[in-house]
Amino acid sequence: MTPSIVAYIGLGSNLNDPSAQIKHARTALQSAEKIIETRFSSLYSSPPMGPKNQPDYINAVMAIVTSLLPTELLHSLQTIENAQGRIRGEHWGSRTLDLDLLLYDHCQINLPDLIVPHKGLQERAFVLYPLQEIAPELSIPALGSIDDLVASCPLAGLKKQS
Ligand code: ATP
Ligand code: CA
Ligand code: CA
Repeated sequence: MTPSIVAYIGLGSNLNDPSAQIKHARTALQSAEKIIETRFSSLYSSPPMGPKNQPDYINAVMAIVTSLLPTELLHSLQTIENAQGRIRGEHWGSRTLDLDLLLYDHCQINLPDLIVPHKGLQERAFVLYPLQEIAPELSIPALGSIDDLVASCPLAGLKKQS
C-alpha cells in the first residue's frame, strides 16, 4: 500500500482576481492525482513582500494527504501554477498563482530545487496564521510549535477575509 503523508501547501495570488485564482487552484488541487484535501484555511489579504509597487495578495493554506513523493508534489504544484498563467518575472513580483510546499510530513529536505520546511515560513504572517487556523497542534521540524511561531510573528497587515 502507498503511504499517505500529511503535507501543507501555501497558496498566494495578486493578479487577475486573486480570490478566484485561489479558489480555482483549490479545485485543481482537489482534482489532482494522489492529493486529497483535508483542511482549507480562510482567505487572508496581505501587503506585498518585496517590491511594493504591486497589488496586495490573497493567501491561504491547504492541508492534504498525499502518496506523491516530495519532488512529485512540487512538480504537480508547478503544473497548476503554469496552467493558471504563472509567468516568472521579478523576484517576489506579481503573480497569478504561487503554490509553495510548506511542510511534508516531518521531513527536512534540502535539494537544489526543494527546501522543506519552506524557507522564510517562520517570518511570514500570511503563512503562519492560516497554518495555525487549520493545524493548531502543529509542530514544525527545527522550528517548534505553530503557537510559539505565531506569537513571535507580527501580523504585518494580514487580514482574514472569510
Ligand atoms: P519564496 O520561495 O521566497 O516564497 P517565490 O515563491 O516567489 O519565493 P518561486 O519563483 O515561486 O519563488 O520559486 C523559486 C524556486 O523555489 C522554484 O523553482 C522551486 O524549485 C524552489 N523551491 C524550493 N523549495 C520550495 C518549496 N518548498 N516549495 C516551492 N518551491 C520551492
Ligand atoms: Ca512563495
Ligand atoms: Ca513559490
